[in-house]
Amino acid sequence: MVTVFYEEMAPAEFRARLAAAPIAYLPLGTLEWHGEHLPLGADAIQATGLFARVAGEVGGIVLPALHLGPDRRTIAAGVELIGMDSDDTTVPNRPLEGSAYWVDDAMFDAILDATVRNLARAGFRIVVAHGHGPSTRAFRAASPRLEARHGVRCRGPLAAGTGPGFMTDHAAANETSITLALRPDLVHMDRLPTDPEVVLTGVGGPDPRLHASVAHGEAALAAAAQDLVRRLREDLAAPP
Ligand SMILES: [Zn+2]
Repeated sequence: MVTVFYEEMAPAEFRARLAAAPIAYLPLGTLEWHGEHLPLGADAIQATGLFARVAGEVGGIVLPALHLGPDRRTIAAGVELIGMDSDDTTVPNRPLEGSAYWVDDAMFDAILDATVRNLARAGFRIVVAHGHGPSTRAFRAASPRLEARHGVRCRGPLAAGTGPGFMTDHAAANETSITLALRPDLVHMDRLPTDPEVVLTGVGGPDPRLHASVAHGEAALAAAAQDLVRRLREDLAAPP
């Protein structure tokens, strides 16, 4: 079985895959509350799952996920609230269990810069990143600078309007469906209140109890993979 995962490769596998397609895939994860029904690492699980499929088709190497990322942050009565902690659906606003990922924008920028610098030095020419929304937006904003400084092409978020979208909500129908398609063993729909009138804590987007399915997740994965494969093939065919 051929691995696409960086940390599992010996130099021979690394050399061969790098020579065939010098693409690095960086899953932008978090350790973050994703409702009572999803694993805390849902972001990295989804991004890694997509990238493994794409790497299987077009080539390249999938990095271990980053589990630190930026997000909105406030201090309320001396308590630090990150991301979904201060969302309308978190009543009362509070630190949600399991969230442990926040770094400020400058720190995340430095992590991206160091990561891309090392990847360029290792021989990669294209760096693809996607995942946690604020991390993905930061990568997109940093891309022109990373490209100029390190001589790589940065390919980030999926093209707008790609099928049903990929990681378009927070622990709601889209993320739940994708996680269901990839790791059904880690999804616990039975832990959510069955009454659809009960608002789900720290969940943002279409109700996963009503709209999540393996079929929706497979469709989201297939559309996102197809879009990335097409764009990366164009990149590989273009002169450096
Ligand atoms: Zn997420």
